[in-house]
Amino acid sequence: MSFIKFVGTAGARFVVMKQLRASGGVWLSVGKTNLYIDPGPGALVRCLSSKPRLDPSILDGILLTHKHLDHSGDINVMIEAMTEGGFKKRGVLFAPRDALEEDPVVLNYLRGYVDRIEILKESTDYRIGDIRFSTAKRHWHRVETYGLNFETEPYRVSLIPDTRFFPELPDLYHGEILIIHVVRLKPIGDDPIDHLSIEDVKTIVKKTRPKLVVLTHFGMTLIKAKPWIVADELEKDLGIRVIAASDGMKIDLEEV
Ligand SMILES: [Zn+2]
Repeated sequence: MSFIKFVGTAGARFVVMKQLRASGGVWLSVGKTNLYIDPGPGALVRCLSSKPRLDPSILDGILLTHKHLDHSGDINVMIEAMTEGGFKKRGVLFAPRDALEEDPVVLNYLRGYVDRIEILKESTDYRIGDIRFSTAKRHWHRVETYGLNFETEPYRVSLIPDTRFFPELPDLYHGEILIIHVVRLKPIGDDPIDHLSIEDVKTIVKKTRPKLVVLTHFGMTLIKAKPWIVADELEKDLGIRVIAASDGMKIDLEEV
C-alpha cells in the first residue's frame, strides 16, 4: 500500500520555532520504497513517536527540496538513522547543489554513510527503487529549490515547495494529487514574497484541476485562520477536494 504521511505541517519561522505544528516533513512510501522528504527540526523524534512508529532505518532515501532550516534541520540525524549510525552504508541522498557546497547543511563526515548522493537539477528524472520522479523548473526562492512530480499509480503526486509565485508555476505540476506549501493566507500588499498564499493556490488549482489538493507547511497567518476552515472555503470556491494537512495525517495514495 502506497502512502504519504505528513510527519509535520509547520512552515516558516514562527510556527517552527514555537512548534505550533511539528516541522518534520513527509514520508512517502511507494511499493517497497520509502523516501523521506524535507526532514525539518524534530523529524527523527516525530518518526519514532508516530503511531504506528516510522522506522528511519528502513528508508531508501532522503530528499531535500531546499536547504532552509525548516526543511533540513534534521537532515544529518536522519542520515545517521537511515544508515544505523553509518554501520550500514545505504540509501540515497537527493539535494540541490547549494545544500552541499556553499554554506552546506549536510555534514561532510556523514556523506560517506549513504550509497550515493544525487544532485537535484531542474527538469531532470530520478529513480529510487519503486519511486520515479522528476524535478520541475527551479523555484523562485532565496536558495536553490525544486518541486517534484512523482509518477505514482494510479494517481500522480506533485509537491510544490516554497516559492514566490511565477506565471509558469501552474504548468509545471501535473499530479492528480497536488500538495502545496502555502505559508500565507494573503499576499503582503503588492510586494511579491518568497512564499505562496491562498490566492496563489487558487490560481494554480484553477489551471491544473487536480483530483485532490493538500495544503501544508503553514505559516502563522494560516494557523490563525485555522487551515481546515480555509481548506473548506477553498473547496467550495473551486469545486475540487481540498484538505488541510494535520500532523501525522496519512493519505493512502490508491484510495483518494
Ligand atoms: Zn524555504
